[in-house]
Amino acid sequence: TDANDLIAEYRNTGTLGSLPMGHFIDGAFSEPVHNRTMESFDPGTGVPFARFTAGTKEDVDQAVASSRLAFEADWRDMAPVERSRILQRAAALILENLDLLAVVETLDSGKALQEAMGDVRGAARTFEYYAGACDKLQGDSFPLGPDYIGYTIHEPVGVTAHIIPWNFPISTAARGFAPALAAGCTVVAKPAEQTPYTALILADLLHKAGLPAGVCNVVTGTGPETGAPLTNHPGVDHITFTGSVQTGRAVMKAAAEDITRVVLELGGKSPVVVLGDCDREQALAGVLGAIYENAGQICSAGSRLVVEKSIHDEFVDELVARTRALNLGHGLANPDVGPVNSSEHLAKIAGFLDRARSRGAEIVTGGSVTEDPATGQGWFFEPTIVNSVAADDELAQEEIFGPVLAVQVADDADHALALANDCQYGLVAGIYTSNFAKAHQLARKIDAGQIYINEYFAGGIEVPFGGNKKSGFGREKGLEGLASYCKTKSIAARIG
Ligand code: NAD
Repeated sequence: TDANDLIAEYRNTGTLGSLPMGHFIDGAFSEPVHNRTMESFDPGTGVPFARFTAGTKEDVDQAVASSRLAFEADWRDMAPVERSRILQRAAALILENLDLLAVVETLDSGKALQEAMGDVRGAARTFEYYAGACDKLQGDSFPLGPDYIGYTIHEPVGVTAHIIPWNFPISTAARGFAPALAAGCTVVAKPAEQTPYTALILADLLHKAGLPAGVCNVVTGTGPETGAPLTNHPGVDHITFTGSVQTGRAVMKAAAEDITRVVLELGGKSPVVVLGDCDREQALAGVLGAIYENAGQICSAGSRLVVEKSIHDEFVDELVARTRALNLGHGLANPDVGPVNSSEHLAKIAGFLDRARSRGAEIVTGGSVTEDPATGQGWFFEPTIVNSVAADDELAQEEIFGPVLAVQVADDADHALALANDCQYGLVAGIYTSNFAKAHQLARKIDAGQIYINEYFAGGIEVPFGGNKKSGFGREKGLEGLASYCKTKSIAARIG
């Protein structure tokens, strides 16, 4: 279906007829055990546009049992090349459904349609990448002398649970599902209650691509009623959790109960270090994208600008001018900056700025709740810059998860390094400098899972991604992401 037709349908009816309903269990959209539903809101208007199923422990039990059966009966022992072909077909089907997935993602999350299309293309690329890895999970052999043979094999860990946040629903689903399936694991996923639809559509497309029933199940509902029963479930062998530190802590405790494997992808407060010798244009564009893409609701957003004193005044003046020129609007209108995801989240962002104002912070642009200028509706926050933020200020320490940039002034590169590392999080860091050696020296010393030099968000599915410190542990993407879903078994035999 064409995006324009879907947008016209939404404008005329206030909803979309093609939205899935129910959980996706055993290869079909299924009736929930209890017939309870929740509303899904369009953040660009603040108006509900559909209802979805609010799952319970009973639904989770069904999904885990189905996934266990499919693991043992169909998926674990399928020839890797066959798994690969299914994942390749899935990548093609995702692209064939690009417009539907992107429009649904925009309505559910609020993000600009072009960004949603990028996310969907990225999801297809993720399946393509891991499709190629299915038949390359090779082990090692070991030189034990003429009387022995020693080798390793990589076995799938089993039933994997995936808890997904609302800021990148289809991207996060894909980056968990694809490597898990490639490794021979089965999947039970719980998307965020704010954004349930694209994970359901993705599970259906995977089934249409040839995935046997039960290999990928999706259960929708809230964290406490659906997420917790899944992460507490004794039938789950591995949990991939992406979300806040607070929930991550609860998930890690739940995992400890049954000694379940866990990967935690948590929050961030990532610095963008801009040194005096940078390419000014490159750095300005990088800093703006790092904080305003997806209205700042990105775990790896560059939410702290650590800028060298020698260029600070000019650099911030230019950033402010460009920030004021950004246009806000409904995601379907492809704005520079869309709404934030929920009214609760909007209030949380506003709270940070209200407290900053009462501390006398230097808010050089933005700082307030606003609305779609075209309609007067929606949950918007002005693109905001706060200048000269102290290292111990909450604006420099806490994840705001909105379009709010905290500027920290550094005397020189060493001071910039100290400021960059003075934070409880360690997800990513950006560096802008024209000095190649200095860039790589800083890259080694900054405590973060990934470093972007002269292009923020550089790197694709090939490059491992994950956090240090309170940003979590474990790595997704790349071949390291695949390793999370494998158990290494070593076998040694006496033959002499
Ligand atoms: P959240 O922790 O509130 O929710 C995330 C998911 O956990 C949702 O699906 C929710 O329903 C579920 N959940 C809530 N309580 C649960 C419980 N007790 N047991 C099991 N599941 C539960 O986070 P959010 O507000 O949806 O997402 C924003 C956060 O996610 C930010 O902190 C952001 O930085 C982080 N994030 C991290 C990454 C990364 O890769 N590191 C990527 C995206 C988002």
